[in-house]
Amino acid sequence: MWKRKIIVIGAGAWGGWSAYLLQKAGYQVTLVDQYGPGNKLSGSGGKTRIIRMAYGGDPDYTRMTHRSFELWQEHEQFWNDKLYHETGALWMFGDTEPLYATKSKPVMESLGYPLDEIPLEKASQKYGQINFEGITKTYWEPKCGYLEAARATQVVAGQFQKTGGTFLEERIMGVWGENQIDSLTTESGIELKADQYIFACGPWVTNLFPQLKPYIFASRQEVYYFRAPDKHQAPDLPIWIEFQPEQDELMRYGIPDHFDSGFKVAYDERNVPINPDKDSREVTAEKLLEISKVVAHRFPALRDAELIDHRICVYENSLDGEFIMDQTPGYSNGILLGGSSGHGFKMGPAIGEMVKDNIDSGVQFPVAFKLERLFQSDAVKSQYEVD
Ligand SMILES: Cc1cc2nc3c(=O)[nH]c(=O)nc-3n(C[C@H](O)[C@H](O)[C@H](O)COP(=O)(O)OP(=O)(O)OC[C@H]3O[C@@H](n4cnc5c(N)ncnc54)[C@H](O)[C@@H]3O)c2cc1C
Repeated sequence: MWKRKIIVIGAGAWGGWSAYLLQKAGYQVTLVDQYGPGNKLSGSGGKTRIIRMAYGGDPDYTRMTHRSFELWQEHEQFWNDKLYHETGALWMFGDTEPLYATKSKPVMESLGYPLDEIPLEKASQKYGQINFEGITKTYWEPKCGYLEAARATQVVAGQFQKTGGTFLEERIMGVWGENQIDSLTTESGIELKADQYIFACGPWVTNLFPQLKPYIFASRQEVYYFRAPDKHQAPDLPIWIEFQPEQDELMRYGIPDHFDSGFKVAYDERNVPINPDKDSREVTAEKLLEISKVVAHRFPALRDAELIDHRICVYENSLDGEFIMDQTPGYSNGILLGGSSGHGFKMGPAIGEMVKDNIDSGVQFPVAFKLERLFQSDAVKSQYEVD
């Protein structure tokens, strides 16, 4: 006997895990996606995504990442499929207080995850590939690595169907009803009905909820893959994350060469708006030049390295960089999952479990993730800015 009928819109990390865990819990779930799980245009469509425990001391995110680690690893075994690759992370801080590390440390240690300062001298002895000029502090996070993002998202959607769920490749164009959603309509004119609806639409969410436009915006992220010389693969090099507040981008980071797909380099900023369907997905020459200089400085062996691949991805940002988990505006039987703001992939399992617990037993979402907080301010902030 099915519990209730649920439709999940969006088969990215957040919608996929929500659908899978609800289906497993006995709900009759339909998962709908316009382009397919982990498609290249989506936030979850990248090759890799980092999972790290350091969250600037934020209790909700630290606890959710801990739970996500448990669920990723539990399901890897259950599905006999390796999706997580541990490399450790080297946190590097320029001329700034390493607040993100010092605030993360006690909260991480309370859950059993170390984050230790390593003397610069020791770091440069260990990682001769790195030029530490301009770095004042370094920290080591051993329990950190990358997830195979697009592939993991497809695996989750596949397991969802194996558990009896229905997948539909359709674009939802309309949400109908007053105070309660009665039905949805798709681009090809299909009407879909359920008891409960979950919107995990990533950067497309404002297409269905235009009233959210003042609070949620999509921004462009360029990701580069350089041909890597020897010793620029894990375990010779870990994931690296560099904080340089005086620069445009607050933070730059990379994943050493993996699956021969190149030495990944990216950055965290929210300045360039993008239309996820229409805008160009080609790198810009000036950004590539800027990043190549950064890479050549920090990793001298990559000077003049060939760019072997690139991705233009999209952040779905809430104004304050924090997640949104709340009732859909205007409809009591809808849940809105959004504002993943460039740091949500790792959290897919925990988000899915929180949605399941909310529907199953009324467990409330964290107050910090309520939509109304965004109605008070229009300041744009990144999750990496800790005070
Ligand atoms: C360059 C880059 C680097 C990142 N690095 C990290 C990282 O290291 N660690 C980390 O944890 N996170 C990282 N993130 C963030 C992470 O990728 C996202 O937070 C996460 O993937 C969001 O998942 P989602 O399911 O909310 O959205 P998405 O993956 O975007 O999925 C939304 C889905 O909804 C579908 N959809 C939308 N509207 C409709 C509609 N009307 N009808 C049908 N289907 C619809 C879309 O096709 C899409 O598949 C990064 C993001 C980018 C862009």
